[in-house]
Amino acid sequence: MIDNFSKDYFFLSNFYNAYLMYEGIIYCSTEAAFQAAKTLDVAERERIARLSPSDAKKVGRNLQLRPDWEEIKDKVMYDVCRAKFTMNSSLKLDERLLATGNEELVEGNTWHDNYWGNCTCEKCKDIPGRNQLGKTLMRIRNELRNQ
Ligand SMILES: [Zn+2]
Repeated sequence: MIDNFSKDYFFLSNFYNAYLMYEGIIYCSTEAAFQAAKTLDVAERERIARLSPSDAKKVGRNLQLRPDWEEIKDKVMYDVCRAKFTMNSSLKLDERLLATGNEELVEGNTWHDNYWGNCTCEKCKDIPGRNQLGKTLMRIRNELRNQ
């Protein structure tokens, strides 16, 4: 199991710097693209596209969410991750993802995110995380393998 998206596996993290195009805008990280997708305001999206992953995350917390956000957020995460792993031929992210073989990918964290990952803090450790980011990455890995 790969349950920590840092060091050798930092490329799996949404904070990893990799260009991707999403809905006509170029972003430097999946974090920025994901946060920008929370709004339908194109000027705001372009502003977020220039931010670091951590600044994009901060801005994303205060955005007025598009009304359908809860229904589409899983698909947005899939789309931005799929773009990241297929649009960066120089970083060979597709090969690196495939090289994780059949390892279960779990976004282990300590910041209580039990939706996209699985928090391992004292308070959360008995709550199984939904690990939606890890599942999304395993889905993309499967698609890359079968294409
Ligand atoms: Zn926690």
